[in-house]
Amino acid sequence: MTDPELDALFALAADVQRHAHVPYSNFRVGAAIQASDGRRFAGCNVENIAYPQGSCAETGAISAMVASGGSRAIRRIVILGTGPAGPVACAPCGGCRQRILEFATPDTEVWFGPDRAGLRPHRIDALLPGAFHSLTEGPAGDPAATLAPPSPGA
Ligand SMILES: [Zn+2]
Repeated sequence: MTDPELDALFALAADVQRHAHVPYSNFRVGAAIQASDGRRFAGCNVENIAYPQGSCAETGAISAMVASGGSRAIRRIVILGTGPAGPVACAPCGGCRQRILEFATPDTEVWFGPDRAGLRPHRIDALLPGAFHSLTEGPAGDPAATLAPPSPGA
């Protein structure tokens, strides 16, 4: 099935991935967003010698989208990863799932896979069940995911 919009996002993610700053992991990630107004934004991972100061590709793409002043709703995001042995399916990390959720709609598509043919769409609520949604209410997560409380004396 041809999907020129997805092809364009894949090409953008693949291009920006080449610019990743990854002297420590050699794991290059590129992310490309199409906002609901059709505009596209890209980001790559940027590592730092002080490891926690690095940032993910998705973070950079989201920052560019927000900084643009246009739509902040993510219609699609494509994430590509390439390690020392070659391309791999690169799912967003837990923190980036929460970042994507911040700008997601019920129709947001999160695409990742090892190559264009292997890209698959995912729903953010499936990638991040029980997400942090509110400063005043708990998650509306799946009750089946809740563990039974420990029995007294256990
Ligand atoms: Zn991340």
